[in-house]
Amino acid sequence: MALTGIQIFKLLPKTNCKECGVPTCLAFAMNLASGKAELDSCPYVSDEAREQLVEASAPPIRPVAVGKGVRAFATGGETVLYRHEKTFYNKTALAAMVGSDISAADLETKLKVWNAFQYERVGLNLRPELIALKDVNGDKDAFAERAKQIAESSEFNLVLMSEDTEVMKTGIEVSKFKRPLLYAAGETNVDDYGALAKENELPICVKADSVEGLVPLTTKLTEMGLKDIVLDSGAREIKQSLEDQVAIRRAALKSGNRDLGYPTITFPCEMASNTDMETLIAAMHIAKYGGIVVLSDFFGETLFPLLLERLNIFTDPQRPMTVTEGIYEIGNPDVNSPVLVTTNFALTYFIVSGEIEGSKVSSWLLIKDTERPL
Ligand code: SF4
Repeated sequence: MALTGIQIFKLLPKTNCKECGVPTCLAFAMNLASGKAELDSCPYVSDEAREQLVEASAPPIRPVAVGKGVRAFATGGETVLYRHEKTFYNKTALAAMVGSDISAADLETKLKVWNAFQYERVGLNLRPELIALKDVNGDKDAFAERAKQIAESSEFNLVLMSEDTEVMKTGIEVSKFKRPLLYAAGETNVDDYGALAKENELPICVKADSVEGLVPLTTKLTEMGLKDIVLDSGAREIKQSLEDQVAIRRAALKSGNRDLGYPTITFPCEMASNTDMETLIAAMHIAKYGGIVVLSDFFGETLFPLLLERLNIFTDPQRPMTVTEGIYEIGNPDVNSPVLVTTNFALTYFIVSGEIEGSKVSSWLLIKDTERPL
């Protein structure tokens, strides 16, 4: 649970030496409590106090790193219940599920199609991160081959899904260089899966049949020394799934419940019978509070709106999205083309540039950073 400024002050040296850049230890403590200072700025904190302060200043929801390469991501690390209170930090990762019985050729085709779903927006590349490979028949060789194919031939990172420890082991062997997420440790296999995650230094999901049921599982894993944990409350019905997401977020943020202080994974692909409903559920969980959202497939017409929603939800509301100041070519302008001027707010830029494109008049568009003086 977060410490107050006074509680932090009691752990500081109280010499007021000013080396941290503020006049007193009390001022430093207040800054630390409000997130305006780093503990490392004080060189005189004792090891014992440092341990307590690091623990107390850790985000209430642990950030968990998944994957390697350009599509690696962190999930969790959130500090507020509502986006307008501060900001959300680590955007919801999007996954598509594929069964381990898919042929190599079909998977190759899917990977090519999915890889092409990349969209440039305000200077960012919007794209999904993950493929959830699900063991559908206990065939460990097929599972390993498909895991290897995804890990080696694509940028995508992996969720390895199996209830069979032997199948999971073969998947880990061929793909652990991509830091896959293991799914899932439950009541019956938490020891085995915990050992696999520990031995291979991989993040791991726990799955229960309620929010309360997650607590003994995370407790068990943390006792084994594991910290990179993702939660699945088991809900596969819309209302219950939303309630569980809110309950987990509130427990971590408002009650300081460390046993539930982890990001979550949700499965719209198992909650809907058609793509439209699945997409709506995914949209709900991007807003509240899915760390990873698993879809049954990626389709451009549903993925793009989800990526755009994600961009908006995970943008700091106190800092509007902007485009870089400069002169932009719309069409093929020349020396006789009009020069139009507008602000650098991203929304304004897209509206104005869209209108110019629609007019079919090649133009120069001059973007001015309106926060910067002339
Ligand atoms: Fe106090 Fe440490 Fe800052 Fe010195 S550097 S004033 S001891 S908090």
